[in-house]
Amino acid sequence: MVSKKKLYEILENPLAQQIILDILEDNIEGLDVLSTLMELGEATDDEIARQLNMKLNTVRKILYKLYDARLVDYTREKEEDINWYTYTWKPTLDKLPWIVKKRGQELLKKLREQLAVEENSMFFYCPRCEIKYIFEEAMDCGFRCPHCGGALKEYDNSRDIELLKNQIKFIEEELKSSIFHIPTTSVTSKGRRRSRRRVKGVKT
Ligand SMILES: [Zn+2]
Repeated sequence: MVSKKKLYEILENPLAQQIILDILEDNIEGLDVLSTLMELGEATDDEIARQLNMKLNTVRKILYKLYDARLVDYTREKEEDINWYTYTWKPTLDKLPWIVKKRGQELLKKLREQLAVEENSMFFYCPRCEIKYIFEEAMDCGFRCPHCGGALKEYDNSRDIELLKNQIKFIEEELKSSIFHIPTTSVTSKGRRRSRRRVKGVKT
């Protein structure tokens, strides 16, 4: 079990927040849903919607996204007389440190690949559309912007390279943080076997 104190510490971490927001497709209200659920321990979607004064439909969409990422779980109960199911949700954040690590590493891989492209290619851009093209693309369209037909100009990507390097460094540093170092045996869930096997597969 990851202690509640530690979970709150993780939720304050900028990389963890970035990754949770990514799971929520940048819906910042999702963070409120998650923290309300943490405060309450468990709640129905209706209770969360009332507490946050949010539309029930919005709350549900958020909960499904969190469920897909295995950050919440639910139990459902049939209401006998109305033939209706009530869903009670609870946070399952024990896997959060592992999820942040895994997604953080995936993000790192993507950014490093992007950096390699930036460092090894020439770029052109359309000043009017503010779109950047890699050399081959620019050549294919005769150095004319495919959107507006304007002449493409050579593009200095040193600033993009610098930004990518900074992002990479930021994620590398955050991933070193001790709050994400959880022994794999602490990962427990419904699909116990499956998640444990997946944990073993993660390079550390
Ligand atoms: Zn253009």
